[in-house]
Amino acid sequence: MVLTLQGEGAMTGTAVVLLRFEGCNLECDFCDTDFTGTDGENGGIFRTAAELAEAVQQKWISSTQLNVLCTGGEPLMQLDAPLVEEFHTRGFKILIETNGTIPAPEHIDWICVSPKTEEIPLLHRGDEIKIVWPQKKTDPKKFEELEFNHFWIQPKYDEHYKKNLRASIEYCLAHPRWRLSLQTHRYTGIS
Ligand code: SF4
Repeated sequence: MVLTLQGEGAMTGTAVVLLRFEGCNLECDFCDTDFTGTDGENGGIFRTAAELAEAVQQKWISSTQLNVLCTGGEPLMQLDAPLVEEFHTRGFKILIETNGTIPAPEHIDWICVSPKTEEIPLLHRGDEIKIVWPQKKTDPKKFEELEFNHFWIQPKYDEHYKKNLRASIEYCLAHPRWRLSLQTHRYTGIS
């Protein structure tokens, strides 16, 4: 976990404690996230919801607006109602980045779904939907009528990034329902 700025989507630039949960229920061939192990920065094994929420609170430096961004891997494999309650009790707003395949506990404050298959995600409403592009198994048109406020196309970050960026720009030009999301942390060096 680390205090940083959210790098992508509609919350770009927002101060958050980024909390990366270990493990994922999918195996995407383009995955660029190291979600194995618990030895990342400020990592560890937290045996209770209160213990984890307390550790996140310790990372915060301001008392005004507290945000925790839960990501992974797949955060909904571990984020449950007791942990939601612990964060809210401490005044945190809870943001999640999920692949949408697992139901979310109630009262999450900001839901970003990033589908990785052609199926309509189980979690099909929220604040923003983000498609990593290009993606062979996913057609963004299938998701256009879902209940989200923001629709993002985000270039896949791999050795073909320039080509992926061009393809993403072209997709947004041809399908203006979708907007371009850039991973600003990659440009700014913010982790
Ligand atoms: S869902 Fe996300 S974290 Fe999980 S394997 Fe796919 S790209 Fe990686």
